[in-house]
Amino acid sequence: MDIRGEVMERFLRYVKIDTQSKEGVEDRYPSTDKQHDLARLLVSELEELGLDDVCMDTYGYVTATLPQNLPAGTRAASRLPVVGLLAHMDTYPEVSGKDVKPVVHRDYQGGPLELAGAPGEPIRPEDNPDLARYTGDDIITSDGTTLLGADDKAGIAEIMTLLSWYRQDATIAHPRIRVGFTPDEEVSNGTKYFDVKAFGADVAYTADGSGMAEVEDETFCADTAVVTIKGVDVHPGYAKGKMVNAVRLAADFIARLPAANLPETTEGRQDYLHPYQVSGNVSQVTITILVRSFTEDGLKKMEQVIEGIREELNRAEPRATMRVEVKESYRNMKIILDKHPAVVRNAEEAIRRVGLDPKRMAIRGGTDGARLSFEGLPTPNLSAGGYNFHSRHEWIPVQGLVKAVEVLRALMEVYVERGLEDAPGA
Ligand SMILES: [Zn+2]
Repeated sequence: MDIRGEVMERFLRYVKIDTQSKEGVEDRYPSTDKQHDLARLLVSELEELGLDDVCMDTYGYVTATLPQNLPAGTRAASRLPVVGLLAHMDTYPEVSGKDVKPVVHRDYQGGPLELAGAPGEPIRPEDNPDLARYTGDDIITSDGTTLLGADDKAGIAEIMTLLSWYRQDATIAHPRIRVGFTPDEEVSNGTKYFDVKAFGADVAYTADGSGMAEVEDETFCADTAVVTIKGVDVHPGYAKGKMVNAVRLAADFIARLPAANLPETTEGRQDYLHPYQVSGNVSQVTITILVRSFTEDGLKKMEQVIEGIREELNRAEPRATMRVEVKESYRNMKIILDKHPAVVRNAEEAIRRVGLDPKRMAIRGGTDGARLSFEGLPTPNLSAGGYNFHSRHEWIPVQGLVKAVEVLRALMEVYVERGLEDAPGA
């Protein structure tokens, strides 16, 4: 089977379908109707491939089953886990995904990638150190007027190509595979109505990471701290000795946050406090602060910093009332994945089998897999091949698409050989 031809053809076809999601839509799901266009197409293609249980539910989730094909009654078949493969259908709301015109730059020979629709704004090697790795390969971009949508139509094309591969060669053994294509991931609602129980997988992988050979098994631990400062409002003409201005106290509060722990001053595994919303007036101000760390201990330390500032400031101005309320947002999925080490180990083995060197990465943010992991479905994220997500400079080497399909296939092979002794509930 010509993997390269098929995965490329699928990818170029899917990116032309506009599936942009929309921020702040609460009265409907998914946030935009046009995501259904791709969902319906995938349903018909999954049916054509002869998968079981092909279905699009009322929320627009597309799911299907490829039954395992090991000889009945073999020992291996009975202990094989059900493996879920997930990718999201929507694209980033802030950059247009309408009329995407993908361009294949054949046999890339280094230098800037010129985009016809954005003269003078090429994709430059100095901003994209990874480009050099793909000299001699074909590279796909948009024409520069829209994003490309490799995030995450690359993942969809790869999963579809894998299924098609199995359909064309029934002798390749694989476990029972559950496929899931989700809407609204880019507006943080990808798993909002996802029925983990009905999906019925033991483990899953999202094919939604950038680059090649990466396994993302960590996210931030995330809390939100809401600081409320109550002052005393008095007519400013007669305020001497009486007014306690919550606006000024809030400014002071924010200024005291440590400069070394801000999003704009941290990277890698460093923690941050991000004051990202302030509202109020002289009598009351609310400051919303995102608290981020890779460990729950780190999270606590950051929250103590906030509490310390509150005490300091309250000592200096005892007439004000100051309260800090902390709400949990999400937790590092590594806490769950560490309980099922085979999930990441098998992925790393699969990456090695296709001749790549696996890299474990931590996401400075959240991912659909985090929520699924905490709902009982351990779900790390795998590279889908693209770069520069969410921008008109998005690009993907064809090799990235091909390798991702090969990694998925090798992953299924690893499950057939090794199973998952530490599967949840096993
Ligand atoms: Zn994505």
